[in-house]
Amino acid sequence: MQLTIKRNINKAVVEFKLDERDEKVALGKAITLAVEDYCDNCKASNSIVWRQNKATDEKGGNFIYIKRRCTKCGAESTLGEYQGGLGYFWKKFELYKKGIPQDKIVEDTEEVRLEDVPF
Ligand SMILES: [Zn+2]
Repeated sequence: MQLTIKRNINKAVVEFKLDERDEKVALGKAITLAVEDYCDNCKASNSIVWRQNKATDEKGGNFIYIKRRCTKCGAESTLGEYQGGLGYFWKKFELYKKGIPQDKIVEDTEEVRLEDVPF
């Protein structure tokens, strides 16, 4: 399934072209990338900037992660990735707490088992 998402990120218009075999993975990525920039913490929608950070994992390797920052209250939302290449998700906007390394925020992945989903 091929999808194109065009959106504003900071002062640029960015076009994402997705080509995923699994339609739900493609749709999930599109939904995540097209999500409204809205701060869960202070409810502002016109003060979100996208940023990147570099962090070091436990083995000493470097990696980049993407986050959205609210310039009004300082809360941040990090882009998480489902294991197995199943797509992305945005973590809730939260104020950075001193003493918690940023890479810890990235490493705990949000995973929901099918048997945990109420039907
Ligand atoms: Zn905010």
